[in-house]
Amino acid sequence: MQQGPGFYRRVIGDSVVTALSDGWLDGSTDIVIGIDQAEKEAVMARNFRQAGPLRLALNGFVISQGGRTALVDAGGGPNFNPGTGKLAANLAAAGHAPESIDTILITHLHPDHVLGLLDDKGAARFPNATLKVHAKEHAHWHNDAAKAATPAHFQGFFDVARNVVAAYAPRVELVDDNEVFPGVVAVPLPGHTPGHTGYRVAGEQGLLIWGDIFHIPELQLRHPDTSIMFDVLPDLAKETRIATLKTVSAGRQLVAGMHLHFPTFSHVREESAGYALVPEMWVAEVA
Ligand SMILES: [Zn+2]
Repeated sequence: MQQGPGFYRRVIGDSVVTALSDGWLDGSTDIVIGIDQAEKEAVMARNFRQAGPLRLALNGFVISQGGRTALVDAGGGPNFNPGTGKLAANLAAAGHAPESIDTILITHLHPDHVLGLLDDKGAARFPNATLKVHAKEHAHWHNDAAKAATPAHFQGFFDVARNVVAAYAPRVELVDDNEVFPGVVAVPLPGHTPGHTGYRVAGEQGLLIWGDIFHIPELQLRHPDTSIMFDVLPDLAKETRIATLKTVSAGRQLVAGMHLHFPTFSHVREESAGYALVPEMWVAEVA
């Protein structure tokens, strides 16, 4: 049985940010390291979930402003995982043709975030878009020595990143911490990957799209000092995660993320141990 389309709009300042579901990834808490199995099961049970098997949400976002349209990540596409590849249909349902996307902002070049940028033939699915990616992210995945030093079963990530960037050449622009789209600033959040980047959308309260600060929110909010087996720089990822949680909870910053439960718009509250995510109320109509 089909649900309604997986898109949800939120006004942020002069922008409309639309969350798009790409579906889900099948996984388990095995991807979280630095915490014992009994504690994983206890934390997940307290959150009415099991340690595994487990579905992880996968999302992208559209930012619309003044006739311009940016896509932030594109999901894994239909061939990545049986549950992924729904972003293209949800983008269409939200009223955006692929040709209307003029900018693609990438949080990082992992396959579950960028394979959806390619069509069935491996060509650019968004023919008019400039791909913007952090300079350090681009450098890492194009570094042959880094590839050779990576365990064999993760080396395919390098090929995916290179294929995606090549499909958008020459419309590829390297970014740092500058304004990358009207009202949107890149925020380096390194660790999960060397150039992992969030995007801050300007507004009265604003919004931080924080990419992969979390993969399994229930577990990592309670234990932010754990890491994920896909973290390229695990210690830096922990440092970034902990610093980000402090900043967004103290600043009452609205956040959204690629692996938060759809439609993801939430605040973070500090608890006596760890943090809690407080999802925003679903709103039927936006001005
Ligand atoms: Zn991811």
